[in-house]
Amino acid sequence: MAKLDHAQTAKKRRPRTCVGCGEESPKRELLRVVRGTDGAVRYDSTGKANGRGAYVCARRQCVEAAKKKKSFSRALKAEVPDDLFDALLERCCEDG
Ligand SMILES: [Zn+2]
Repeated sequence: MAKLDHAQTAKKRRPRTCVGCGEESPKRELLRVVRGTDGAVRYDSTGKANGRGAYVCARRQCVEAAKKKKSFSRALKAEVPDDLFDALLERCCEDG
């Protein structure tokens, strides 16, 4: 499939808000979760996969809060598999 980069020109710099703590965290590392064009929700390790994205701090407590509150389901309006959180937790700093 051809990769069309419409987003390039239309893209605005939106604040990235963590779905766990609700804070905008430009300084802290945020992990991107994306609902792809196939409707599946996954951790986006590249940070630029196509689809609707949501962010969470790379902190254990934020990932767990997001899981508890089903924040990703709400943000992305899609079912979120449990193993998504495993993938996110793997990326978390322990010192959170
Ligand atoms: Zn957070």
